[in-house]
Amino acid sequence: MAPPPPGGGAVPSWSMAIEGTLAEIADEVRVCTRCPLAARRTLAVPGEGNEQSDVLLVGEGPGAREDATGRPFVGPAGQLLDELLHAIGWAREDVFITNVVKCRPPGNRDPEPAETAACAGYLDRQERALDPAVVVTLGRHSLQRYLPGARIGAVHGQLRRSFSGQHVFPMYHPAAALHQASLRETLFRDVRGLPAALLAARAALDAERSTVLAEPVAVEIVAAVPADVDAEQMTLFQER
Ligand code: URA
Ligand code: SF4
Repeated sequence: MAPPPPGGGAVPSWSMAIEGTLAEIADEVRVCTRCPLAARRTLAVPGEGNEQSDVLLVGEGPGAREDATGRPFVGPAGQLLDELLHAIGWAREDVFITNVVKCRPPGNRDPEPAETAACAGYLDRQERALDPAVVVTLGRHSLQRYLPGARIGAVHGQLRRSFSGQHVFPMYHPAAALHQASLRETLFRDVRGLPAALLAARAALDAERSTVLAEPVAVEIVAAVPADVDAEQMTLFQER
């Protein structure tokens, strides 16, 4: 434990890079008062699931049932999420599930930017503790965090990479399909692409990790490329 800063008493900020295990982060979330959502919650919802998982699901924020139980996605949207996971032979025990904001916005309104910002450090730390190969975003607010400016209609069901290098698999929010039946089919179609997206993300990460070791070999191969190979082929060649 680091000694308290000289002069002490300052409110800790995220820039102090407090890390911790998923359980420690959850304990902090349960008593957090960093934003006004704390005042009206019943229970904060830190998130739960398999701490060894390579897949992190990120929703928007707790609804009524989540607020009452302290668990993510246990209401109607959660039932559909369970069905989606079962469709690919997964269960919620295979993944880790959390939200952009950990406390229920009153009346299920959208979280405000200040609330999302106040809560972001917890999700940052959950990501570092879990180190997932793929982050599955559920809905717009979650998508916005990883791929700012992306439109869900254009990117859903496709593996993308965030500016910070995370592999992101955007999906519509399951609750949206409860209001708009046509999205149900889209959700099932998209989720069927998730296992392959996970394999692709893992393969990309493995390749990047081994790049450092493979570097001397790569240089030899590049030197052996005939002079008439065009630039596009060269790029593919180097990446192999
Ligand atoms: N909707 C969400 O975005 N998250 C939950 O935990 C439940 C419903
Ligand atoms: Fe704290 Fe996040 Fe809950 Fe706001 S929403 S009180 S920042 S845990």
